[in-house]
Amino acid sequence: MKILPHPNHLAAGCALLSRPLLPLARLVGFLYLTGPFDRLAEVLPELPDPIETSGAIYERPAALLQPFLPLLEEFEQLKHPTARPYRILDAAGDELPAMEAIDLWLGHHLLIQELEEINSLLCAPCGCTLCCIGPEADMSQAFFEIPLQPAEGQRFSLPTIDTAASRATTPYQEPAMQCDGSPFYATGPALYHWQSGWSLILPQGAACPHLESSGRCRIYPDRPEVCRRPQIFSYALEAVTGQPAGGITAYQARRALLAVWDCPYVQALQDEIAAFAAACDLTPVFRQNKA
Ligand code: SF4
Ligand code: SF4
Repeated sequence: MKILPHPNHLAAGCALLSRPLLPLARLVGFLYLTGPFDRLAEVLPELPDPIETSGAIYERPAALLQPFLPLLEEFEQLKHPTARPYRILDAAGDELPAMEAIDLWLGHHLLIQELEEINSLLCAPCGCTLCCIGPEADMSQAFFEIPLQPAEGQRFSLPTIDTAASRATTPYQEPAMQCDGSPFYATGPALYHWQSGWSLILPQGAACPHLESSGRCRIYPDRPEVCRRPQIFSYALEAVTGQPAGGITAYQARRALLAVWDCPYVQALQDEIAAFAAACDLTPVFRQNKA
């Protein structure tokens, strides 16, 4: 049975969960669009301190939003339109109006940054290594996959499989790719170049080579992107597969916040995560990944 962390140990992360930044960013966007401002940066020095909303109190709101200014400046598109490098589609595949698209795009990217800090604060006190190990003996999966950005594989001294066969399949395709007459995952932890990109495969009983016996990550400041962003994720947008040419990224609007139920702090903070999602106008979705 999983031991849930005591709420007192999660206080720092909870404080940020109870003060979501997206509602504040939207308020600033509204002030910019309805006020006499040419550029969004002009709004920040005009903000009162603190700002109190029905859901949260924001001390030093200008300082809170300053790191997100490049994202907030996306609101300027509505006063000074230029070609946007993204398109946001609804469920029918139709492009959303500019206001809605800009709100979703900047909200999604703001949440990615904000949740990286929140997840790090919540994970540290848990004493848990679930994200860094392969399936346990009583789990149904044969392996866990840690997706990697193309250059991140260089941080691991592991066998690398980058063949025509691996690049033509995915780890989940049946039958599994064979290596020396056995399913690929039987050969131990390794890096693979799949059709879907690079990943680290951890078979049952294996651990990431950077996991120390103390439970710490040996390359913590330099850990891969995916390791920085467990286990509460923005799912406001999802990149569309098979991107059109021309450097424009297409996204499907999802308007959800995903939280992975395997994680002990997600279980301990279900209500707080749901409230955070609601404040951001997102649907909270709790999902079991590993079983
Ligand atoms: S790189 Fe670090 S955080 Fe990522 S799986 Fe390995 S030990 Fe865990
Ligand atoms: S499951 Fe949650 S607490 Fe455990 S290592 Fe992953 S993020 Fe941290």
